Amino acid sequence: MPERIWNFNAGPATLPLPVLEKIKSDLPNYNNTGMAFMELSHRSKDYAEVHAEAKALLKELFFVPDSHHILFLQGGASTQFFMIPMNLLQEGQKADYVNTGAWSKKAIKEAKLFGSVNVAGSSEDANFTFIPRHADLKLSSDAQYVHITSNNTIAGTQWASFPDTGNIPIMSDMSSDILSRKLDLSKFGIIYAGAQKNLGPSGVTVVIIRDDVLQKCRDDIPTMTMYKTHAEKDSLFNTAPTFSIYILKLVLEHVKSIGGLEAVEKENIEKGNLLYGTIEENKEYFKCPIPEDSRSLMNVVFRLPNEDLEKKFIADGLSGGFGGLKGHRSVGGIRVSMYNAMPLKGIKELTGFMKDFMKDNG
Ligand code: PMP
Repeated sequence: MPERIWNFNAGPATLPLPVLEKIKSDLPNYNNTGMAFMELSHRSKDYAEVHAEAKALLKELFFVPDSHHILFLQGGASTQFFMIPMNLLQEGQKADYVNTGAWSKKAIKEAKLFGSVNVAGSSEDANFTFIPRHADLKLSSDAQYVHITSNNTIAGTQWASFPDTGNIPIMSDMSSDILSRKLDLSKFGIIYAGAQKNLGPSGVTVVIIRDDVLQKCRDDIPTMTMYKTHAEKDSLFNTAPTFSIYILKLVLEHVKSIGGLEAVEKENIEKGNLLYGTIEENKEYFKCPIPEDSRSLMNVVFRLPNEDLEKKFIADGLSGGFGGLKGHRSVGGIRVSMYNAMPLKGIKELTGFMKDFMKDNG
């Protein structure tokens, strides 16, 4: 086994090596404080600088408009499944949800605790293998918001573009594609993402909330569940996940150093072209169940001719230095998660392995 493998895990996922090396060199004495970063007070000047810098970098790199607040919360994206309806949905009020996979379903389940849910579109009947067309969505004119999952980590699908919802804000779970492509964020009321795929380690959840949506949020619910608490206290109402935020800052610095979002998006497209291209060129052997317009650039799913070959592919892959290739247990097959930190070189080597495997096991 080599010292580091190509890590295709779905999350927590691979991080840029320079970031890991920087974390190591900052230990155990951060910035001459005589303490490691995770030992610093969350009220200290050294911590405050990192907190502010992480926010500023995310704003700059992801083109977050001035109308939006950036929050660093805990509880994972799963906590956002209930925080959004808890803050924005009163009894008798309605929200639209698009059901594109296991994570959308979990969000829908939580929303039903607070208000009425209209499932405006779904691909469940087709095992979540596609993203519904905008024209097929049955959006309500009186919804408080429309919730979507921009990238479906398990199913391997991604919204290529977003529906026009007029004045109704879109809330998007971007856990697995935040900061992977340039988007017009102005129409999003809330964007949320656990950091552990594109942004850093687990432990911090990024929430980007538009000011008019924030103003509509309730203030008669438990303090920690109120978006207003965290916006007013700059995400320092209580002890922040300081170490995760510090690594988030390092990841963002790294993204900036390699050319920002433009460079990241370009490489993500190149990786997608190479991997999907290899699948298509060998489609008698590798089969991707997702139609082209719904394919994810972050999580690529495909099948081999039978399950025994898939098991062998995963095992041979691991001994060849390619980890995390097993598809989610609910889908089976192969899943290649290739977030921002997976370089094109990793996909070049993987596609080489795929072709060799096919030759040897044809
Ligand atoms: N949404 C999506 C799209 C995800 O991929 C995941 C985690 N894989 C979650 C939500 C749940 O996130 P967390 O574990 O941070 O609660």
